[in-house]
Amino acid sequence: MTPDNGTTSHSAPIMDQAHDTTHYQALDNAHHLHPFSVHHELRQQNPRVITKGKGVYLWDSEGNRIIDGMAGLWCTQIGFGVEELADIASDAIKSLSYYNTFFQTTTPAVADLSALIAEKTPADLNQLFFASSGSEANDSAIKFIWYYWNLKGKPRKKAIISRERAYHGTTIGAASLTGLPFMHDIFDLPLPNIHHIGPTPHYYEYGNENESEADFAARCAKSLEDKILELGPENVAAFIGEPVMGAGGLMIPPEGYWQQIEAICRKYNVLLWSDEVICGFGRTGSWFGCQTYGFMPDIMTMAKGMSSGYVPISAVALNDEIANTIVQSNDEMAHGFTYSGHPVACSVALRNIQLLEEMELVGARGDKTSACFQAGLASLESHPLVGQTRGVGMLGALELVKDKDSKKRFEPDGHAGATCRHFCFSSGVIMRAVGDTMFLSPPLVITENELDEMFSLIRKSLDKTYAVLNE
Ligand SMILES: *Cc1c(COP(=O)(O)O)cnc(C)c1O
Repeated sequence: MTPDNGTTSHSAPIMDQAHDTTHYQALDNAHHLHPFSVHHELRQQNPRVITKGKGVYLWDSEGNRIIDGMAGLWCTQIGFGVEELADIASDAIKSLSYYNTFFQTTTPAVADLSALIAEKTPADLNQLFFASSGSEANDSAIKFIWYYWNLKGKPRKKAIISRERAYHGTTIGAASLTGLPFMHDIFDLPLPNIHHIGPTPHYYEYGNENESEADFAARCAKSLEDKILELGPENVAAFIGEPVMGAGGLMIPPEGYWQQIEAICRKYNVLLWSDEVICGFGRTGSWFGCQTYGFMPDIMTMAKGMSSGYVPISAVALNDEIANTIVQSNDEMAHGFTYSGHPVACSVALRNIQLLEEMELVGARGDKTSACFQAGLASLESHPLVGQTRGVGMLGALELVKDKDSKKRFEPDGHAGATCRHFCFSSGVIMRAVGDTMFLSPPLVITENELDEMFSLIRKSLDKTYAVLNE
């Protein structure tokens, strides 16, 4: 059905209407359900229509140029509109637009990509399984973990421990791993066997008065050990964590946290699973977040920056112990997707990863850019609205507070963040708000001049937000 408001004419050539904002808003409001939205509010306000991207810039249907401080959704490492990736996709489609890898077949693209990622992952994380999104990779990993313990003759070892405020995606397994109650309550989740521990490893918010960062890290790690002992180590399959927690609030682990977590996992024979969907492919300064934080997972999941968001693709990396246990089994591994190892997606991801390396975006140029980015971020701490800034690599966050010393926030929670995000967008820069925490995760290709422009627009937006909140 089409809405009876006279604005829709499906037969009109799309190109002629490329800048017809109200036309696309009407179609969208009539037919499109957006992720993570309060729909009646969205439909009153109308979505912004994004029509073009190049480098670190986006353009909307009104012709406004916007610097994308979020790299899409933490994913466009290489920036928008890289011609070479368009050519690679075009060539891939012309030579083999699709084939599966189910029936004793493979393609050069998926074989090359598996080998390249195995070379970038640490130590013995050598074997790859492909899917199309971070959530699918995480659901696949849950199944591999359960299957692995079944094959090891430990069918009771099924509990997976995650953390409060973790974000691991939205399919049923991934949403269960996620530690955000608003993503559970309306959908009758989490699944059984999935547990969440607190405190969330974020010293600024959860550290007690007079508790050092090191003591706080030990308290966070102890909560994992306590949970393992409560469930019984013989029942605990794995612990999952994002090296830096992303969508739940961009929270950086306290010093020493990951080493203690790793030791506890080893002590109780619990698999350590690093969700690298945001942290992978240079976001924290190394190929993977576990390398930045110096721990060694048994399993990793990855997506987002893997293809810089050009095509949907994700992967699970298994260490040799888990993979070989599966390889040696006589069972058919009855899991996989029509698009596992899609040749077009693999070709684009392969070239994207090669470019991240050749351009030294993961390497010398990336290090220089992130030093400049972190300096710009830290300079915002002098703003009267900013209670804290924190960051690593090309990730950054700032806390909007009413009072810096007491860390007191504005009321209601989220109002300051939404106001700031609005002023950012209208000033020509995208920052994401979760509550009153503002996030930055710019494309790795951003230049020093573009960083200057971005931070000057952010400062202006903070000034406007401050003025409105103190009216
Ligand atoms: C985005 C994200 C996911 C989910 O990825 P989708 O592609 O949206 O399914 C999983 N884990 C983390 C850490 C993420 O940031």
